[in-house]
Amino acid sequence: MTAPKAHADALVFFGASGDLARKQIFPALHAMAAAGELNVPIVGVASSGWSGEDLRERARESVLAHGGTDDEAFAHLASLLTYVDGDYRDESTFVRLRDALGGAKHPAHYLAIPPSLFGTVIAGLKGVGLHEGARVIVEKPFGRDLESARELDVVVASAFPEESIFRIDHYLGKDEIMNLLYFRFANSFLEPVWNRDHIDHVEVTLAEDFGVQGRGAFYESAGALRDVVENHIFQIVALLAMEPPAYQGYAAVQQAKESVFRSMRPLEPSCLVRGQFDGYRDEEGVAADSDIETFAAVRLFIDSWRWEGVPWLLRTGKMLHATAGEVMVFFKRPPQVLFDDSRDGENSNYLRFRLSPISEIALAARVKTPGEEFTGTQQEFVLHTESPLERAPYERLLAGAMAGDSALFTSRGSVEAAWRVVDDVLVHHDAALPYAPGTWGPAEADALAAPWGGWHQPAVSPTPSPTATASPTAQTTAQTTAQTTAQEKS
Ligand code: NDP
Repeated sequence: MTAPKAHADALVFFGASGDLARKQIFPALHAMAAAGELNVPIVGVASSGWSGEDLRERARESVLAHGGTDDEAFAHLASLLTYVDGDYRDESTFVRLRDALGGAKHPAHYLAIPPSLFGTVIAGLKGVGLHEGARVIVEKPFGRDLESARELDVVVASAFPEESIFRIDHYLGKDEIMNLLYFRFANSFLEPVWNRDHIDHVEVTLAEDFGVQGRGAFYESAGALRDVVENHIFQIVALLAMEPPAYQGYAAVQQAKESVFRSMRPLEPSCLVRGQFDGYRDEEGVAADSDIETFAAVRLFIDSWRWEGVPWLLRTGKMLHATAGEVMVFFKRPPQVLFDDSRDGENSNYLRFRLSPISEIALAARVKTPGEEFTGTQQEFVLHTESPLERAPYERLLAGAMAGDSALFTSRGSVEAAWRVVDDVLVHHDAALPYAPGTWGPAEADALAAPWGGWHQPAVSPTPSPTATASPTAQTTAQTTAQTTAQEKS
């Protein structure tokens, strides 16, 4: 088993008739075609009884629904698409696939299918020799706990060497997430203060103001901890908490991130609040007595020299007050209170990474208000805003995997170490607490963050700020001022 160095000479995607293909994969392939990056045969495999024409029609619908307007690029994509129909549990499906692939020597097999079928498809590929010289791209979730992730690793490793396995966490393909890594290590001013001596606490919020959108049956097997905390949020934490990579190249980044996952203290039930929005149990595919959490708030510690004692307050949820992704890194307040308005740890400086729906980085500092009094306001220096030209994550990820570049994928060690952190609380936890749609989750979650001033609430619809400007900003509900704010804290 050796890993191919060459660019993939075919893309096979299992799950061609599925939801992910419709929402993400066809638009990504179309964008790659428009960029001149797609010049290999693409074979869709599913069991809908479709023809090649049906697959192309699905691709057309999907591309149009996602804003694709480049007819020439679509014609090129359509010319590359073929379809193989069959059940993944049936060996003859893979025989037909091998025929459809002709002489391809380095196909990339993308498993955009329910995780319960990953092993079946890998066995099918191996059975007809389609794993030789090939790569495999595995959708998330990679396992549903530590044990199942290890089992899956064994199955995948039986057919593919580690360098040929591409585990997707599509968050890693987002520009704003890549910028966390860049911003930290392309700037020298951060490193001296990026540690427990200067940072008080860190908060990460990934909130959605919508529900499970018809995917209740899937969500019943996942929940917020598995679906978002263990992967997307932990990846954000790892990028913020990692040591500087030892050398240039993504292998060093993978190693540094893996060390963070290994240093994360396994969660205990007392560090977790689970919630479920009112109405979730009425969703199609959801059990009438479901205890699956649609909200999770976590207090995490990283037992490392750099981060000992610094709490990482993490939360995610559906049907919350806003759709917003934000990271707040709060610095410690000055050691001596010289001004009345910097009392009690309020108004500490912070670095804010807005991840969605817009992308920006802001540094907040206090500035004196004109007049006789020594009082001031918190002002933000906004450093970066979103570019409308950004590539979609799936476009980056597919292009990377086909080129054999594992920079934006997760490693075996990281995946297993991350599962280890949540493994106990996946089983041992309090019942999910009800919360009303449109709120920030169950009130009980406030207790987790209370010693650090409560949760910072992301602005609901921030206006993109011009690059490098100063603007008045965050206040906390602990403060009594009614000043117009871009941020609040509760
Ligand atoms: P769907 O259930 O919508 O699609 C499943 C696909 O697998 C269909 O194409 C289906 O084909 C095919 N399939 C299922 N069983 C068989 C079988 N026995 N033989 C042949 N084909 C089969 O799943 P999603 O697209 O939602 O999810 C796919 C993967 O992507 C999952 O791992 C999921 O966790 C991940 N993912 C999905 C996201 C989303 O928004 N949908 C977001 C992030 C990750 P057919 O119907 O023709 O039988």
